[in-house]
Amino acid sequence: MIRRFLANFFQGRNGFDQLAGAIWLVSIVFLLLSAFTKGLFSAVCNFVSLILIIWAFWRVCSKNIGKRSRENARFLEKTSGLRTKFRDFRTRFSMRKDYKFFTCPTCHTLLRVPRGKGKIQITCSKCGNRFPGKT
Ligand SMILES: [Zn+2]
Repeated sequence: MIRRFLANFFQGRNGFDQLAGAIWLVSIVFLLLSAFTKGLFSAVCNFVSLILIIWAFWRVCSKNIGKRSRENARFLEKTSGLRTKFRDFRTRFSMRKDYKFFTCPTCHTLLRVPRGKGKIQITCSKCGNRFPGKT
C-alpha cells in the first residue's frame, strides 16, 4: 500500500540523486553544528540546515526532470576531482599495509608499489616517467 503510494508519487519526479544526497549531507553538518553551538550562530546553522533539507526534498520531488538532471550532471562534473581524491584516499587506506602509494610528478597518476623493497626507481605506468622512491 505505502510502496504503491510511493511508486505513484515518484512517478515522473526527479527522485534521489547525487546532488540531493550532497545537499542532505551538508544539511546534516549544519544540524550538528547547530547542536554543538549556542546563540545566534546555532540559530543560523539550524536555519541553514532546514533550508537545505527543504531544497534536497524539493529536488527529489521536482517534476522538471530535465533541468534537475542537468544540475546533477554539472554538480558531478564540478566535484569529479574531489571524488577521485576521495576514492584514491579510500584505496590507499584499505591497502596501506601491503602497498605504498606514490603520485607521478609528471602526470599525477596514483601508483602502487609493494612495501618493504627499500629505495627503488618507480616507473609510471601511464607516462613511463621514472623517479626514485622509498618503500
Ligand atoms: Zn606519469
